[in-house]
Amino acid sequence: MAENTFFSKIIQREIPADIVFQDERVTAFRDINPQAPTHILIVPNKVIPTVNDVSPDDENTLGHLFIVAKKLAEDEGIAEHGYRLLINCGAHGNQEVFHLHMHLVGGKPLGRMLSRNVREE
Ligand code: 5GP
Repeated sequence: MAENTFFSKIIQREIPADIVFQDERVTAFRDINPQAPTHILIVPNKVIPTVNDVSPDDENTLGHLFIVAKKLAEDEGIAEHGYRLLINCGAHGNQEVFHLHMHLVGGKPLGRMLSRNVREE
């Protein structure tokens, strides 16, 4: 079983965060450094470090992330105009916290998916 993470402490309410949704499988809280008017992290309660660590047992939980994302987008009033869901993986994905999480970002036009100054290597 993967080690507890910083996000686990938020999920277990040992560290404060602005939690907007929680059930037995998933916790969602506002990003501390929002990139848009709505920026929420939707996190499986179980520690899965990266997408590379996903197993077939996780299928229901990971599908549930989308159900929660859709609900939160409606709650935030951003569903109609659209939003972005993204999951970073590993070094090239710029993942900072190794507890898989989906970003729900919206509330303004978000532009292109990748900035033009990401250099080809
Ligand atoms: P990643 O780059 O791993 O996909 O995203 C990690 C996200 O976690 C970042 O957007 C960062 O702002 C957010 N974050 C880092 N530390 C904290 C924290 O202590 N509280 C909250 N709410 N978000 C955090």
